[in-house]
Amino acid sequence: MNLGISATEYLSLVRNSQISVEEFIAKTIDRIKMVEEKVHAYITINDQDALNKAKLIDKKIRTKEKTGKLSGIPISVKDNICTAGLKTTCASKMLENFIAPYDATVVSRLKQEDAIIIGKVNLDEFAMGSTTEFSYFGPSKNPWNNECVPGGSSGGSGVSVSALECMMSLGSDTGGSVRSPASFCSVVGLKPTYGLVSRYGLISYANSIEQIGPVARKVEDIALIMNVISGHDQHDDTTVKKDAIDYVEGLDIGIKGKKIGLVQQMTGDGVDKEVLSATNKAISKLQDLGAECVPVSLDSLEHSVAAYYTIASAEASSNLSRYDNLRYGFDLGTGGYEFKAYVSKVRSNFGSEVTRRLLLGAFVLSAGYYGKYYLKAQKVRAMMKSQIDEAFKKVDFLIGPTMPILPFKLGEKIDDPLTLYKLDINTITANLTGIPAISVPFEISSSGLPIGIQIFANSFEEKNLLQAAYALQQSVHLREVPL
Ligand code: GLN
Repeated sequence: MNLGISATEYLSLVRNSQISVEEFIAKTIDRIKMVEEKVHAYITINDQDALNKAKLIDKKIRTKEKTGKLSGIPISVKDNICTAGLKTTCASKMLENFIAPYDATVVSRLKQEDAIIIGKVNLDEFAMGSTTEFSYFGPSKNPWNNECVPGGSSGGSGVSVSALECMMSLGSDTGGSVRSPASFCSVVGLKPTYGLVSRYGLISYANSIEQIGPVARKVEDIALIMNVISGHDQHDDTTVKKDAIDYVEGLDIGIKGKKIGLVQQMTGDGVDKEVLSATNKAISKLQDLGAECVPVSLDSLEHSVAAYYTIASAEASSNLSRYDNLRYGFDLGTGGYEFKAYVSKVRSNFGSEVTRRLLLGAFVLSAGYYGKYYLKAQKVRAMMKSQIDEAFKKVDFLIGPTMPILPFKLGEKIDDPLTLYKLDINTITANLTGIPAISVPFEISSSGLPIGIQIFANSFEEKNLLQAAYALQQSVHLREVPL
């Protein structure tokens, strides 16, 4: 049984009873148990429940009952997305034992379509980070080279899909957290348009810029899951009411006649040589397929990292103020504490990166500094949006490398926050302006490490975006994960 098949192939095997869901899920659990020691993608493995669900789906198929659009597909879920009855820790001591009383909308939609939640996966604490090293439960490791980081913050999503420990995953992307691990682990990751996918049940980090997004090994699987998770949700007023779109239909239409803008600022100084040459190769492939490529300049990118960290930290400091260990938290006796001393003691249990963001956020929002930092950052954001609007008057897509460098060694940059922040330069534009972006695996470097290419489209143009990503995917043949 090949655990590496695409969800699309798997569904047809399941529907024709050529494969038993129970057997496939049991195999997947064996695989998780075998590779977890090396990669540490999971925080919670939902094995027993997954097997029970699998049996139910097999029975539905045997008795010719109607089955859902994702029948029997094992999906991992980032541990900042709520799952009723299953821990949701945010990889933080603050929520170490938290069990949400309800499912996030995306999770209930998956369940309605007979997907199987196989477990909850690792992240940087509260999704703050780019390497998954800032998890309370320890880092995840890159399946392509266990000494390297898998990207982040949805590292567990990227790793579990890449290492064949599930078929797809849901991550969250506030500044690149779906696309960075997708790129570093050689899988596909989509950040949808702001408002396309419900955030109800996503534990907020910076809610004005984040979206839940899928990770899969193939673009066609991303299309499949988007058909299920996208659309208006009465529990999230930021979701947009629009007619449902079928992302699977016409996926292979190609990109002939489309105009693609190569973002100049994403291929300048500081970009790894092999990443640069992969980007150029991707451009030639797309040209061979009939697309026209032109250079596009987005000079607001220069200020984007500063604007992003100001806005994201400000929102984080507000969102995370609820963690006072009274409503939920860990076991710390209240005896002997004044209220303020208690809260302060409790909050010293955030990890170093979260603490840094909370301090930064409180500072930029404080009286006297608000205009100088927060407001200024919002002006940069508005400027970026107008540059993006202008760009999409001229081109259908924008393109660049997802990450400026190759996956690096665990621990190498952990004490250098500024260097880590700068790695988000190519991804955060999509978050600050709301547009969708996808990372497609494109090449494996001479040292055996993955390189992903990122394509952006205008808001709510996911259908076109997936068609372009599919065309790019079909133009390359990548090695299988060496694990
Ligand atoms: N690296 C970015 C940050 O640390 C992005 C995180 C994310 O998208 N959740 O904020």
